[in-house]
Amino acid sequence: VVAPDGLLLDQHHLVEISGHRSNNSHKGRFGHVLTAGGQAGMMGAVLLAGKAVLKSGGGLATIVTDSAHADMVALYAPELMALAFDGMNEQHLNQVLIDKQADVILLGMGMGQSQWSKDLYTCCLMAAKPLVMDADALGILSRAATIPDQLKVITPHPKEAAVLLSCSVAAVQQNRWASVLKLAQKYHCVAVLKGSGTLISDGKTVWCCPYGNANLATAGSGDVLAGMVAGLLAQGFSPAVASYLAVIWHALAGETNVFGLTMTASDLLNTLHQTVK
Ligand code: AMP
Ligand code: MG
Repeated sequence: VVAPDGLLLDQHHLVEISGHRSNNSHKGRFGHVLTAGGQAGMMGAVLLAGKAVLKSGGGLATIVTDSAHADMVALYAPELMALAFDGMNEQHLNQVLIDKQADVILLGMGMGQSQWSKDLYTCCLMAAKPLVMDADALGILSRAATIPDQLKVITPHPKEAAVLLSCSVAAVQQNRWASVLKLAQKYHCVAVLKGSGTLISDGKTVWCCPYGNANLATAGSGDVLAGMVAGLLAQGFSPAVASYLAVIWHALAGETNVFGLTMTASDLLNTLHQTVK
């Protein structure tokens, strides 16, 4: 399998993510991802993504979410930090983004399309940090007047891709290769078009993931993938390599675990280590 940049997948990238880190490494070396989203009733999406940042080797993860439930983040995973966003404190959030020296912002999971969501989107863009967008952020992006320079990766499923390309889902699915190329070219970033045979493009080349199965078609599965992409990006992999590694790793974890059709997104997170081995 040939990875982006023409490197074989089983060479230094896999060595690096499978634990061969220099002995004097510290968590700051492995990046800090801010994961923003999770409106009422959808907090699980942002929690899964944040946990996936750490599970894919990211050093630090902060969840930026509704002030109504930001305090509950640590109850799900004490290793996650939390930051409340109430839609009124843009300046405060921007200061924290700077203070925390986040390396990557991941935006959109369970974020909704409300005024709060739009404020959060605007605020996250002000930080001028490398951005990964998924889910509801993609709807806002499709209607935005400008494409942020710092946008590095988008991870749409076919319906989200159709919105981004202003076409039907059938048109996306009938020509997935052309669609992923168009997505990358239109939004000036790496595009990951999810589904059976996930495709990745940097606007010039298209790479295909030959792994995965329908057990991955479960709630929260895409949130885990988005967290993995952001976690790998924060560790210093290029957008194309981070996307490619995350997609392959996620697909193999779905294919090789013992859960079969009973697998949940949390199970998927808990089997990532087997795939690394
Ligand atoms: P989402 O729809 O955002 O939750 O993302 C679903 C995730 O599961 C994506 O990474 C998809 O590529 C993956 N997935 C869903 N259905 C399949 C399938 N039939 N075969 C392989 N991967 C799948
Ligand atoms: Mg999704």
